[in-house]
Amino acid sequence: MKPPKLFLLIAVLVAFTGQAQVQNRIVIPDINGYKTLQCDFHIHTVFSDGLVWPTVRINEAYREGLDAISITEHLEYRPFSKDVTGSHNRAYEIAKPTADSRNVILIKGSEITRSMPPGHFNAIFLNDSEALAKDDWRESFAEAKRQNAFIFWNHPGWDAQQPDTTLWWKEHTEIYDKGWMHGIEVVNEKTYYEEAFQWALDKKLTILGNSDIHEPIQTDYDFAAGEHRATTLVFAKARTPEAIREALDNRRTAVYHKDLLIGEEQYLRQIFDNSIEITNISQGNNSITVTVFNKSGLTFKLKKTAHDKNVVYFREYEVKPHSRHSLTIRFTGANDGKLNFEVTNLLVKPGKGLHCSYNLN
Ligand code: ZN
Repeated sequence: MKPPKLFLLIAVLVAFTGQAQVQNRIVIPDINGYKTLQCDFHIHTVFSDGLVWPTVRINEAYREGLDAISITEHLEYRPFSKDVTGSHNRAYEIAKPTADSRNVILIKGSEITRSMPPGHFNAIFLNDSEALAKDDWRESFAEAKRQNAFIFWNHPGWDAQQPDTTLWWKEHTEIYDKGWMHGIEVVNEKTYYEEAFQWALDKKLTILGNSDIHEPIQTDYDFAAGEHRATTLVFAKARTPEAIREALDNRRTAVYHKDLLIGEEQYLRQIFDNSIEITNISQGNNSITVTVFNKSGLTFKLKKTAHDKNVVYFREYEVKPHSRHSLTIRFTGANDGKLNFEVTNLLVKPGKGLHCSYNLN
C-alpha cells in the first residue's frame, strides 16, 4: 500500500526538524595569520560529577558554535560510579562519533583532582586517561607528561581550596620545574583570577578560561539574555587538533569571559582592530566625524585617557556588538590631533585595559 502523501510530507518535516539545530556562534574575528577558535577545555558529564550524558556536551558546543572541547572527568571523584560504569576513557569514546558528525573537535582529557596542594589540574591531548589513575599525584602528572599531554592548573583561587588568598605553593614550583604545568585557568566557570593572570604573564604559562560546566549548559547561562560560557580563544594556523596543540604550546590564546577579553596585548589589539571598521571620515571646520562599524559580537568599553585639551571627545563610550557609530571630535585650538583612549574591558594586564591612540590629522 502506498503511504498517503500527507503522511510522507509529515515524515519529511519530522526528519528535517529532527536535524535542524540553530547555531549561535559569537562573532570574534580572526587575527593576522591565525584563525580564532572558540574552545572549552574543562567540561564534566555523568562519568564524573556532571549531570548530562557525554553526547549532550557535543550538542551544546555545536549550538554555541564552539570549535573544540575537552571532556575532563575527575579521575578521583565519580559519585555516580555505581550506576555509570566504564573506564576513564568512556566519556570520550561515547562522545566522539557525535563530535565527528557535528564537526566539533573533541580532545581527550582528564582532571587530576587532589586537595591543595597541588589542587586540580587538567591534562588534555591524552592517549589513555585510564593510565593516569594513580594514588600518588606525582605519578599521575608523570604519566600525563609521558603521554605528551598539555597540562594546566584549574581554578587556582577556588575558595574551597584557597579560602583566604590565592597562593602559589612550593608544590607548584616543583610541578612547573618538572615541565608538568603548561597553562593556567585565569577564568574558571564565572570567576576571574587576577593573580593567575599575572602568574601566566610572569611565568610564560598559557592563558585559559573554561566553563567547568557540570549542569546542562542552559541551567547556568541565560543565552536569551546574551550570556555565554567562558571560552579559551585559540589563535591557530588551522581548525585541527594539531593546530590547537601548536597554538597552546606557543601561548597563542586569550580568554573570553562575560564582556571581558583577557590576554596579551599583541592578540587583543588585533581582535580590536579587526572588529572595528572605519566606514567614513568627514572633515568639518573645527571637527572631524568618524563613522565606525563593529563587525564583531563583542562589546568594547572605551574610556578617554591623557590627551591634548584642545581635542574634545567622549569621556566614556560603549561600542555594542554589530553596531554603527558616528563619533564627532572637536578641535578648540592648536592641538596634536590625537584621540587617546583605553578599551577597559580588554585586559592586557591585571587592571589594565588596551591603550589606543589614533592620529586624526
Ligand atoms: Zn573540573
